[in-house]
Amino acid sequence: MTTRKLLLLPGDGIGPEAMAEVEKLIAAINEEAGAGFESERALVGGSAYDAHGAAISDADMTLAMDADAVLFGAVGGPKWDGVPYESRPEAGLLRLRKDMGLFANLRPAICYPALAEASSLKRELVDGLDILILRELTGGVYFGEPKEIIDLGNGQKRGVDTQVYETYEIERIARAAFELARTRRGKVTSMEKRNVMKTGVLWNEVVTAVHGREYPDIALDHMLADAGGMKLVQNPKQFDVIVTDNLFGDMLSDIAAMLTGSLGMLPSASLGAPDEVTGKRRALYEPVHGSAPDIAGQGLANPIAMIASFAMMLRYSFEMVAEADALEAAIAAILDAGTRTGDIMAPGCRQVGTAEMGDAIVAAF
Ligand code: ATP
Ligand code: MG
Repeated sequence: MTTRKLLLLPGDGIGPEAMAEVEKLIAAINEEAGAGFESERALVGGSAYDAHGAAISDADMTLAMDADAVLFGAVGGPKWDGVPYESRPEAGLLRLRKDMGLFANLRPAICYPALAEASSLKRELVDGLDILILRELTGGVYFGEPKEIIDLGNGQKRGVDTQVYETYEIERIARAAFELARTRRGKVTSMEKRNVMKTGVLWNEVVTAVHGREYPDIALDHMLADAGGMKLVQNPKQFDVIVTDNLFGDMLSDIAAMLTGSLGMLPSASLGAPDEVTGKRRALYEPVHGSAPDIAGQGLANPIAMIASFAMMLRYSFEMVAEADALEAAIAAILDAGTRTGDIMAPGCRQVGTAEMGDAIVAAF
C-alpha cells in the first residue's frame, strides 16, 4: 500500500478545532478506502512562537518540505500582537510559501445551492456557481524591486513599488491554469491591463504562446482586469478558470469570495512547480478564513472551509477525484438537510457546533 505523508499545521485560534474534524475524515478514508494517509501535527504561528520562539521551527519546516502535502489552519490573535516582527504569526505562512516555492494560489468560489441566499448577488446568478481563480503568488508588484519610500527633502516623499514579471513566471502559472481547466470545463480567462502596463502586454503574449504551443484543446479568453472584475459580479457563471497576477488576483479572489456567502466555507490551495523527476508538486492547503479569536475554543467554528481544503488536497495532490467529489457532495448534502453552524445559520435549519458538523459530514461521506 502507498503511504501518503501529511503534515497538519493547525495554528492558532479555531485552527486546531477545525483540524480535528479533518482528522476524523482521514481516519475514515484510511479505513474505508485504504488510503494510507499518515498524518502528524506540528506548530505554526503564535503557538509555535510560544513553544520555539519562531513562527515555525526549522525542524517543522523540514517536515513540511518532506510531506506529500501540508494542511494549514490559521494563525494569529491578540495574544501575539506584541511579538517581534520577524516572529509574528504570519511569518510562519510566508516562510512556508517561500521555501516550498508555492507560486500558484487556487481560490475556488463555489456556491452551494443551500447557501445561495447568503450571497451578495441574486440567487439565480450564483446558485451552483463553481469557478476557480488562479492567482500568481510570488511575483509582481508585492515583491518587485525597487520598493521604497524616498525622502525628496522638500517636505515631499516618493513611494515606489515595482511590478516585474519574467517569461518563466508567466509560463508556469499559465500552464497551471490550462492543466486545471483540463480537469474542469476547459475554459481559461486571463486578466491583465495590457492597455496601460508593460507587464500586462507580456502577460498576454506569454499566456497566448503557451496556449498555442501546448493547450490548443482549451478555450482561452483575454480580459482587461477592470472589465473582468465587473463581469465577475455581473454574471460570474460565465467563467471557469480565471488566471491573473498577484495584485489583481488578491482583489478578484476576495470579490469572488463574497459571491459565495460565508468565509467559513471557502478553501484554498497553493501549489509549487512539478518536481523534475517525480512530477509531484509541493502543495499547501488552507481555509480562506483567519483564526477567528472571537469564537476560538468554544466549539462554534464552521469546519467546512478546512474540510473543503482537504477535499482539494485529495483532488490535486493525490488524484483521488472520486473521493474529493464524494466529500464535496457530502458537504452539499448536509447543507441541504439543514445542518448549520452559527455563521451560516438560517431560519428552519438546525444549529450545531464544530464537532457535530464534522460528524455529520463524516457520516454523509
Ligand atoms: P485574518 O487577518 O487572519 O484573515 P480576520 O480577522 O480578517 O483574520 P477571521 O479570523 O477570518 O478574519 O474572522 C472574521 C470573522 O468571521 C470573525 O467574526 C470570525 O468569527 C468569523 N469566522 C471566520 N472563520 C469562521 C469559521 N470557520 N466559522 C465561523 N465563523 C468564522
Ligand atoms: Mg483577513
